[in-house]
Amino acid sequence: MVQPMILPYSLNSLEPYYSAETLNIHYNVLYKNYITNLNNIQTKLQISRGSNDFSNIKCLEKDLSFNGSGVILHELFFNNIGPVLRTQPSLSLLEQIKRDFGSFDAFKNQFTAASKVVEASGWCLLVWVPRFKKLEILQCEKHQNLTLWGCIPLIVLDMWEHSYFLQYKADRSKYIDAFWNILNWNIINKRWE
Ligand code: MN
Repeated sequence: MVQPMILPYSLNSLEPYYSAETLNIHYNVLYKNYITNLNNIQTKLQISRGSNDFSNIKCLEKDLSFNGSGVILHELFFNNIGPVLRTQPSLSLLEQIKRDFGSFDAFKNQFTAASKVVEASGWCLLVWVPRFKKLEILQCEKHQNLTLWGCIPLIVLDMWEHSYFLQYKADRSKYIDAFWNILNWNIINKRWE
């Protein structure tokens, strides 16, 4: 059984950038649903193997990818935000950002622009791609589509409507601005190392 992560801060500690009400629904209801779904799928897969009945396998594999990725991305997301700490990228990460994007501002502009136009329900990510030895920005549809295999997520931003609609309505720009304010670079720097 996969256990849910413990939120490393209190529900109201991201205010005013991220409301306690939004975080409560996001973490306690939606995220935990993904944990429940993932565990149910694992059980169903085990039953299928035991009975050698794979008539539902296509659906189960699809659900595994969706819900499993939903768990992983949400944990990365909840962990890379936190109470405002005025954190900064490490010198080594900043150097790589400048090498791959030209400047920190160019990186931030690309990430913001890509986040704004994520289609329907999805994510925006800064990732390290070992094969290219390069940082890239990715959009992700749902939780599992449009990835680059082998990439290592560094920054993860949830662009599903449930992540911002209650507080920011349809104003994605305001939500993304708020995200930059609660982004915990200490965690990003650790991931980078
Ligand atoms: Mn979410």
